[in-house]
Amino acid sequence: MKIRLFLLCFFLSIGLSIAQEKEGINTEYRAEREKVSDLVHTKLKVNFDYAKSQMAGEAWITLTPHFYNVSDLELDAKAMLIHEITSNGKVLKYEYDGNKLNIKLGNTYAKGEEYTVYIKYTARPEEVEQEGSAAITSAKGLYFIDPLETDPNKPTQIWTQGETEASSCWFPTIDAPNQKTSQEIYMTVPDRYVTLSNGLLKEQTKNSDGTRTDYWKFDKKHAPYLFFMAVGEFSIVEDKWKDIAVDYYVEKEYEPYAMGTFGLTPEMIEFFSDYTGVVYPWSKYAQIIGRDYVSGAMENTTAVIHGEMAYQTASELVDENTWESTIAHELFHHWFGDLVTAESWSNLTVNESFANYSQYLWYEYKYGRDHADSHRLDEIEGYISPENELKDLVRYHYNSKEDMFDGVSYNKGGAILHMLRSYLGDDAFKAGIKQYLTDNQYGTGEAHQLRLAFEEVSGKDLNWFFNQWYFSNGHPMLEVKYVYSEEAKIVTVQIEQTQANLFEFPLAIEVFEGDTPKRYEVWVDQKSKSFSFKYTDKPDLVNVDADRTLLAVISDEKTVENLVHLYKVGKKFEDRKEAIEGLVNEQANEEALKTIQAALNDSYYGLRIMAIENIDLSNSNAKKAIKTIESLATSDEKTLVQAKAISKLAEFDDMKYVDLFNESLSSASSAVKGSALKSLYWVDKDAALTYANSITDDLEKESLKAALVPIFIMDKTESQVAYVGGNLISGMFFSEDKELVDTYKEGFQWIAGSADQEATQNLVDSFVQLGTQYKQYGADKIALQVLQQVLGVKKASDFENKEALIKIVQDGIANLE
Ligand SMILES: [Zn+2]
Repeated sequence: MKIRLFLLCFFLSIGLSIAQEKEGINTEYRAEREKVSDLVHTKLKVNFDYAKSQMAGEAWITLTPHFYNVSDLELDAKAMLIHEITSNGKVLKYEYDGNKLNIKLGNTYAKGEEYTVYIKYTARPEEVEQEGSAAITSAKGLYFIDPLETDPNKPTQIWTQGETEASSCWFPTIDAPNQKTSQEIYMTVPDRYVTLSNGLLKEQTKNSDGTRTDYWKFDKKHAPYLFFMAVGEFSIVEDKWKDIAVDYYVEKEYEPYAMGTFGLTPEMIEFFSDYTGVVYPWSKYAQIIGRDYVSGAMENTTAVIHGEMAYQTASELVDENTWESTIAHELFHHWFGDLVTAESWSNLTVNESFANYSQYLWYEYKYGRDHADSHRLDEIEGYISPENELKDLVRYHYNSKEDMFDGVSYNKGGAILHMLRSYLGDDAFKAGIKQYLTDNQYGTGEAHQLRLAFEEVSGKDLNWFFNQWYFSNGHPMLEVKYVYSEEAKIVTVQIEQTQANLFEFPLAIEVFEGDTPKRYEVWVDQKSKSFSFKYTDKPDLVNVDADRTLLAVISDEKTVENLVHLYKVGKKFEDRKEAIEGLVNEQANEEALKTIQAALNDSYYGLRIMAIENIDLSNSNAKKAIKTIESLATSDEKTLVQAKAISKLAEFDDMKYVDLFNESLSSASSAVKGSALKSLYWVDKDAALTYANSITDDLEKESLKAALVPIFIMDKTESQVAYVGGNLISGMFFSEDKELVDTYKEGFQWIAGSADQEATQNLVDSFVQLGTQYKQYGADKIALQVLQQVLGVKKASDFENKEALIKIVQDGIANLE
């Protein structure tokens, strides 16, 4: 699963942390689920009651005792109505408490014997009880989207979300990740809809009542949480890898962009098959985009679902495919997660660390090391927080299993794999992966199996590595000092570990006299450790962790001269980034300014953007830089760089750039267009507003909303008040730009105090949507607070339509309560 990390920013910005909502630390040991009975096969027949948001189901569940004889069977079945249970035609007795279904089998079965129970039931997802913790709403498993077709802007859809243990909301099963079953599903739906499930669509039968029954069959075995169904009106865009069907299910208006979004999937399948040494093990690969999806994306075997964020238009795709790493992430789960499954949620990282690291691997393969390393730093940033630093990677004492889906299991896990790869070398790392996947395929794994596989392949003991990184917490916090003994011509590198847990690790140190380094590989295993190196001329730079692989926070005291040299000789993205960052506040120094100026032409676009953002153009020596930025604005190969250059030039507030801004409005890139439009607004308000108001196409308005909404807010454009009303949330909560957030808050006040009913409705709808979709993160409470505030403003107004406005807000509040 790919979570939407920006949600965390959302809660931080509101000052309401998820952690505060939960009480205490759990001390209960979270074991792997005991295996009494093993699932063998699951056959389902389902049809949907749209009026009630329920599903009528029949299940044939085949099981076998795990080891000991059984005469009882316990299944997970959440909030169902159970109508009948039989086996071999005999009615069976059962007890059901709305959560666990205990069946008397009327027979004793021994290991190796298979038996099948038949259960007729009704799934009632809306009745699924909330979990104990107030902040965490248990998932419904089966989601009906606009089932009564009351929302003209929303298509009717059904989709499921099994992880963690919500598949048992729609079929009785042993809902644990250490169970594996093959599957068949017969789905009966109105004939106008398409369906998607795991495995292959074997048969479609039209029924006399206008419905159709689709038969999906999945022959291999996977965990119950990976079961999936979707129903709705979708266009299916067909692609292929070798003779395996690769299909993209999107809403019709996005059909032209499906290839632009998902088209690299076959190349990814090829790359991951090669990398792991295990050929893609499943019969097809489909991806679907679901409305109001509750997470980022989910790796249901052969039937991945993505959230609406995956939808992008042509002009957005010109800039970058922001969903590409998520596509890689879900695909790599088909090896790590679907083929070999974490045996318990405590061990979730053996799924998620690999899915996370696959994003690095894909970027490295496709776009080179700089892009991958830039991504790695972002991921590490997503891990580093006081809260995360106290969590073990493998965690047997979590509070809620949903808590395992965090920056530790994902981001830190990925960064640890990167270190392991660096320590073992590429070939051993790949061979270890192959070993782990082959030894445990169609079964489960935990961190120890991973260790054993890498140990077997490399011949190295890895307990020291796993003990500190997998079964403990934190990371090295290093204070590094360089002491030069000029007479002896020796530099001593003093390394102090300041964190609570002591770590040991290999470290590469490079000493530069001029452009070529002398490289030393050392081992740090004490709280304080010093290493001395001889030199001829005083080194221009000592680069600690030269390979940039250690997960650590390193602080040292590099001089301006060191940093200038670091930019010049540093081969890695992290080197150049550190240099630019360190020099930003030193631009009065000519060499520092020259370095940032040079970075305007860095080979990696991310660093060009960083240099544009940070260069001080008020410096009289920066004339050349202005020329460079002018040229980047029109001709950089990356449109994201062009857009940033345009914004930088807009800071001059100078009419001489009007032509540039106007011409850039016809760019194919939405980033360039948006940047040009905002820039134009500062120098020629009327022209910018005329252009902004001329855009009527919904998709174009969507792709340019980051520019359009603030402009309409600043201008208080009455004709756009309804559009603004529905598009405030992202800017209010998910932006890091404080000034911009203030603009959106101003927009919020504008709509809250407006008599426009459509704008009020759009505002209310967007907050209700946010609150219901992310209820499990506590978003409903925040949305409720906001709407109460709007209600107060409307009540205090003296608008003629005051009552109607109040009703709109009250209805929204009622929907959230
Ligand atoms: Zn994942």
